Amino acid sequence: MHDDKKADSPCRESKGHGVPESASSPLMSEQVFRSRLAALCKGPIQVDFTFNRASLLRASLVRGVIKIRIQHAFRAADDNTLKALADFVQKPESSSQAILKGFVQSRSELICFFAEKAQSGQCAQVEYVPEKLLNGRELKPQGRHKNLEKVLAKVADDYRLDAKGIGIFWSQGREIAGPKRRSIRFGSFNSKNRTIRIHPVLDSPVVPDFFIEFIVYHELLHAIFPPTKKPQERRSIHTGQFKQRERLFARYDEAIAFERKFAREKLGMKIK
Ligand SMILES: [Zn+2]
Repeated sequence: MHDDKKADSPCRESKGHGVPESASSPLMSEQVFRSRLAALCKGPIQVDFTFNRASLLRASLVRGVIKIRIQHAFRAADDNTLKALADFVQKPESSSQAILKGFVQSRSELICFFAEKAQSGQCAQVEYVPEKLLNGRELKPQGRHKNLEKVLAKVADDYRLDAKGIGIFWSQGREIAGPKRRSIRFGSFNSKNRTIRIHPVLDSPVVPDFFIEFIVYHELLHAIFPPTKKPQERRSIHTGQFKQRERLFARYDEAIAFERKFAREKLGMKIK
C-alpha cells in the first residue's frame, strides 16, 4: 500500500503561529477523538497520537486490539473522515482510503503544523502513506488446519508455563524455502507486543501436532527467558539454560528429526 500522491500546498509559514484554522471542523481533544472513533469500531481500539510527518496513520491488530498511531491533525476530522478512518483500520478498502487521502490533502497545513520537522521548514509536502495494515484476515490464530491458540493453551498446560497475555498468529510467511536456503524460521517471538508468529508452511495436514507444539513451546520459552545481555558480550538468545529447557520437550528428538526431514523433503532445502 504505497501512494505517491502528494498534497500541493507547502506549509513553511505555519511555524509558531498557533494551530492553523481548520475550515469545517475544530480540533477535537484527544479524549473526544478516541471515544468518537471507538464508537465507530466494533472491537477495542488503542489510539496514540504522533507528530510524524511521513507516517500519518498506522494500524495493527495486536491480540484483538486495533492499535492506531495517528498524527494529531486527524483530530480535525469531520464525521465522514472519522467514519472512513474507522472503516480503514478495520478493513482497508480503496473507498475509505480515498476519503483519508482527501482529508490529508485538504489539511496539509495542519499536518505540517503538527509535524516534528516543520519548524525547520522541511515539511514542504505531505504524503499519505498508510503503513501496511495487519488486519484480522492476515493475523489469525485459526489456520486452515490448525488453531494456534489451542496449541498454545495445550503447551502452556502441558509444561506449566504462563502464556497469559501472549498473542499467537499465523505469520504472512514471506520467507520461502528452497535449495538455496539453509534455514527457515518456523516461529518467532516479538517481545514488544508479546506475540508469537508461526510460519504458515506448518499449517498443513502433513505436519504432526507435536511438531507445531514444539515450535510454539520454543517461542513460549523466549517469552519466559528473555535474551541475556552481559556487558561486552553478544546478545545470547538461545542460552544454555534455554537449550536445557527446550530439551525438556517430551518429543524433542522426534521434533528435531521431523524438522530436518520436513525441511529437506517438503521444502526442498539442502539439509544434511
Ligand atoms: Zn529461538
